[in-house]
Amino acid sequence: LNPADTYTPLLQERKQFIGRNLSISYKRPLKIIKGALQYLYDDKGDTYIDCVNNVSHVGHCHPVVVKAMQQQIATLNTNTRYLHDNLVNFARELTATLPKELSVCYFTNSGSEANDLAIRMSRHYTKQKDVIVLDHAYHGTSTVAIGLSPYKFDGKGGFGKPEHTHKAINPDLYRGAFRYSDPEAGKKYAADVQEIISRLAGSGKGVAAFICETLLGVGGQIPLPPGYLKEVYQYVRAAGGVCIADEVQVGFGRVGNKFWGFELQEVTPDIVVLGKPVGNGHPLAAVVTTSAIADAFNNGMEYFNTFGGNPVSMATGIAVLKVIQEEEMQAHALEVGDYFLAALEKLKAIHPIIGDVRGHGLFIGAELVRNRETLEPAVPEIDVVVERMRDRGFLLSTDGPLHNVLKIKPPMVFTKANTDTLIAHLHEILLELK
Ligand code: PMP
Repeated sequence: LNPADTYTPLLQERKQFIGRNLSISYKRPLKIIKGALQYLYDDKGDTYIDCVNNVSHVGHCHPVVVKAMQQQIATLNTNTRYLHDNLVNFARELTATLPKELSVCYFTNSGSEANDLAIRMSRHYTKQKDVIVLDHAYHGTSTVAIGLSPYKFDGKGGFGKPEHTHKAINPDLYRGAFRYSDPEAGKKYAADVQEIISRLAGSGKGVAAFICETLLGVGGQIPLPPGYLKEVYQYVRAAGGVCIADEVQVGFGRVGNKFWGFELQEVTPDIVVLGKPVGNGHPLAAVVTTSAIADAFNNGMEYFNTFGGNPVSMATGIAVLKVIQEEEMQAHALEVGDYFLAALEKLKAIHPIIGDVRGHGLFIGAELVRNRETLEPAVPEIDVVVERMRDRGFLLSTDGPLHNVLKIKPPMVFTKANTDTLIAHLHEILLELK
């Protein structure tokens, strides 16, 4: 086989045996065979720095997490209808990181399943059906979660907006209706949610829930405008609705200043949904809510989840929390994140293609534009950047409705030295683009 055809048999079998609507990263696919912290290794012996993996939160194959999983899976893995210390130990430790009102846990196996459950709970609690989401959001792949995700239901192959879903404007301070220069932007974006609530009330309907990420991921790596959630949560609660924070992408210290994204907005949600990082790659997710909502959900129908809360998943969650705390990863994310943001700002001063740099901690976006006045998205330039960065050993991705935001969310162990090399290469590639 010539080197270009090395993967042909594997690609053919993938096409034959695996669902066809699964994409592959990069024009020349990567076959990664090993991971260690922020590094990934392919079958050709090349090393890559993983700059986008917020699933491997504390790092690929972190030895403390691996050991905890190995010990538990070699001892027992079973469902939650038997007593097991790991289940309550993890729930106790997890709730200790959250405001005291958020005190009851439900464990699931994916973020989609957790969002699905959160919506079900909100409907039991409020006896209402309607849900407000943000435009361009993604909340998962279950039937309910797709129905919460304009990114999917408005996109190719989507069935359009479900009857009970209502889209609020994406509060984008860079290219939205209200921008960085407007100190009232948060309030103005929040007014759109109030308008939806009023419209619903006009047709005799209430609100079951408002759900959004606390920094927008698929929406384009967007921190929420100051004061936005405070205002929105007030409106939603005044209408009897429940406020759900999707922390699947941003939780567990990633945003640096705070442990949770919602804390940046100084609010306490009624339901928090956790995913990706909680199991460091092991399929574990969670819904954490208040006693009142949990009691309303306890309505006679048992909630049982075959794999959710099993001893191996719980041992994994406990180990991940321990590593975040013992290795002081939140403080590290703040320090390296600030350093990264400052370095990107310097690049922005040199390269007009970088229109906006934003983020908190190690949740960062750089929006690429062809023109800083018109904000024309720099597509396909961004794909060239991502491909060339890969050639130089850096794995990045893109996000945002216009596909022009460079997404940076590395494992939390990413260092300043990693940042320096990434920035140096990015600078060279942007020069080449000219
Ligand atoms: N919510 C958000 C914000 C997500 O980014 C994702 C996954 N990309 C999900 C929910 C769904 O999680 P999962 O893929 O684990 O089902």
